[in-house]
Amino acid sequence: MNLLKFIQKFPTEEKCLKSFVKYRLERGVTCAKCEKKTIHYFVKAQKRFECKICKKRTSYKSGTMMEKSKIGIQVWFMLIHLMTSITKSMSALEVSKQLDMRYDTIWYAMHKIRCAMGKRDAKYKLDGTVELDDAFFVAVDLDRDSDEQLKRGRGSQRTAKVLVMVESEKVSKKQMIQKYGKASRHNKGRKMGFVKMVVMEDLSSPEINYEAKNALKSSVSIIADDWRGYRGLPKVVKKVTQTVTPPEKAMEHLPWVHTVISNAKKMTLGVHHSVGKQYLQNYLNEFVWKINRRHFASDPFERAMCMAVDEYWN
Ligand SMILES: [Zn+2]
Repeated sequence: MNLLKFIQKFPTEEKCLKSFVKYRLERGVTCAKCEKKTIHYFVKAQKRFECKICKKRTSYKSGTMMEKSKIGIQVWFMLIHLMTSITKSMSALEVSKQLDMRYDTIWYAMHKIRCAMGKRDAKYKLDGTVELDDAFFVAVDLDRDSDEQLKRGRGSQRTAKVLVMVESEKVSKKQMIQKYGKASRHNKGRKMGFVKMVVMEDLSSPEINYEAKNALKSSVSIIADDWRGYRGLPKVVKKVTQTVTPPEKAMEHLPWVHTVISNAKKMTLGVHHSVGKQYLQNYLNEFVWKINRRHFASDPFERAMCMAVDEYWN
């Protein structure tokens, strides 16, 4: 949906509310008293849902990422539209200027959306052949005393460790040429599927195994470099192929995981500048959510609305 269509479809708070209620009733509203999803009616005058069985009323935003938020539904819709309709990311500063709203309010709401995006993607596991690597992202430790001397390099307080996993299937040269043409930079000899990125406290073998188990099906075949932290991975998946990968061979051995890392770094540095370590996962959620849906035919706003009305206890 482009901006013009969005404005035509959601011109007022009332239109947005009507649409939001429709999405919620379609996905189901949970009654706290009946302790399950029941048929609900919408009581317009009070902006509340009423359970058909026990008559208990509940706020129209209850259980969703918008619960307790003072922002109107139209602003939420605009935020969701802005965050899902463009391939790149927008900073909270830019968005707050566009909507003429307080920076803090917008910043907080955008992170709520990013959390929901991560929650949505956590429902799926990667399958097939997966390129796996770790990366160090620039991130500021916001709790740290600013006078403290910063260490440099691996383990420095200005970097965060991220485990990156990308589905990557081998494609014949002929198929690649058919799809992209002879001289395309996309011709990596492999086709990229779904992606996962996880911010890690450390890159020890148990931590890596724990996250890989969460992210990957046990039938997965991993390809990775020869980092010792990956040696326990055969306990988690069917097959692991570790190859010594000097930097100049990285794009050949693990083309998609490196492309993803490089694009994600551009996004965090270029758009959001100083990213707090504790919020890095949220920014990556947004980045990954968009990559994972790049080939979907349905409208990103519609998909995001399913996520927006999801109740957090489900
Ligand atoms: Zn009930």
